[in-house]
Amino acid sequence: MKLFPNKLSQIHLVLLIAGFLTLTSNFTFFEKTLLVYPLSENLFFLGSLFILLFTLLASLLLLVCYRKTTKPILILLLLTSSLVGYSTNNYGIVFDHNMITNTFETGSSEFLDLVNFKSFLYLLILGLLPSIAVWKVKLSKTQSKLEAEFASKIFENIKPQYVPHVAQFLECVKVFLILVVISSVIVLSFSKHYSSFFRENKHLRTYVIPTYYLYSLAKFADSKIATSTKPFVEIGLDAKINKKSAQRRLVVLVVGETARSDHMSINGYELKTNPLLEQEEIISFKEMVSCGTDTAWSVPCMFSLLGRDNYNHAGGKNMSNALDVISHAGANVLWLDNNSSSKSVADRITFKDYRSSELNSICNPECRDEGMLTNLQSFIDDQNNQDLLIVLHTMGSHGPAYYKRYPKEFEVFIPVCKTNLLNECSREEISNAYDNTIIYTDYFLSKVIGLLKNNSQDADTAMFYLSDHGESLGEFGVYLHGIPYFMAPDVQKKIPAFMWFDESISRIFDIASIKEKAQLSQSHDSLFHTLLGLMDVETKLYEKDLDLTAK
Ligand SMILES: [Zn+2]
Repeated sequence: MKLFPNKLSQIHLVLLIAGFLTLTSNFTFFEKTLLVYPLSENLFFLGSLFILLFTLLASLLLLVCYRKTTKPILILLLLTSSLVGYSTNNYGIVFDHNMITNTFETGSSEFLDLVNFKSFLYLLILGLLPSIAVWKVKLSKTQSKLEAEFASKIFENIKPQYVPHVAQFLECVKVFLILVVISSVIVLSFSKHYSSFFRENKHLRTYVIPTYYLYSLAKFADSKIATSTKPFVEIGLDAKINKKSAQRRLVVLVVGETARSDHMSINGYELKTNPLLEQEEIISFKEMVSCGTDTAWSVPCMFSLLGRDNYNHAGGKNMSNALDVISHAGANVLWLDNNSSSKSVADRITFKDYRSSELNSICNPECRDEGMLTNLQSFIDDQNNQDLLIVLHTMGSHGPAYYKRYPKEFEVFIPVCKTNLLNECSREEISNAYDNTIIYTDYFLSKVIGLLKNNSQDADTAMFYLSDHGESLGEFGVYLHGIPYFMAPDVQKKIPAFMWFDESISRIFDIASIKEKAQLSQSHDSLFHTLLGLMDVETKLYEKDLDLTAK
């Protein structure tokens, strides 16, 4: 018996693949839906939901699949859905437009971190094999006789060779309308269930594959177009430095990656993950939340004046950010990157890429955050006593291959998860690997402080460290990050934020009041104003209430 026929009409092929995708891609969706709508009480509703997913997908496909476009579209959909299904089923990842942005902006080495045998199996069984079947099947040209007769009747002067095309088109329209009617009848028959499904359980639809990621792709494209066409707005042109001391200012801002507030021993975590920082005078902001749950959103947002409520890429990336304003005021601003990129934040200031051994002297083969510090002293010395703000964008705790993020000697907590297939490791192994990345971050930050101490003779120095977002380590079966903010667990939003000041700068700022603010709820929204405060930059944009260092 053949698994797949040799010849099929275009419509039958579309219906077949829509059925296949609905059946094989939505495991996580139905798993989550069953938690809200238990099977015993909602059998018919759940059945209707399955049919609705199928009818919606099939009608959507009929709109775009016509003759020559049919096979390429179906194959592309099969291949991407197999990989999206793999990520959703194994890591709980939701493909909203931020996740799509991240996917496009992620470096190839981080992408390879996600590749393993299981992902290959998903791709093979749910993507490649059905794609080959689609590629090989012959599409029959003529459709039913009824449509052919109808086509000849309504288009009297139609040339005979065009009759099959028109007939095929008419059949598409007919099937599309039937699907729309079925969808409407389903929604109306279970209207109570569907209104609660769409209103109160919005998070569920984010797991529908492929419909939700197709919607997200459209949103991503729309945001890209808006960002590239919006004119750049310069703000803070009145900014100037009004120094509160005679010495030069030297501030290092460390942008962390994927660090969780609750895995820092400084914040009370039971394992000693901050052995070095605990020996320093650190002010920890224990109640700090991020702007987003992924790098692509959080990083540009945290440097933007717009804040979490108003941030979007088109507005935020096309407007001077904190670094532009500080640079305009006259300080020298430098961005060193060992992460994916500055996400457009450093487009107008000095940027150095430390992701390869070209600049980074500590690559084995993973380029270490520490490598950004190797030549930093000579750069500081070259600045002719100018005020200096240095941003270090770290690789930090980027998952899922946590075990790759630290040199061997930092493997303090064992046993560790040594695969990127997190759900095959125990919670303890994942947590240990993750905590070792925090130990390495602790070491890195203490080296930054060491560098600043070496400069405190002729500069007022400070360090501000904060992560871009948190991470799920398997709680509720969710791994990694990037869950849409409205439904994201706290662990993806609560981030560590540490400040360190040398003796001379401690006399300029009111340390007691900073310590008070460190006990209150804070967010990435304060970074813009805090950086202005730390660099003594005055501008009308500055809001004292949002400056964590203001009295
Ligand atoms: Zn990140």
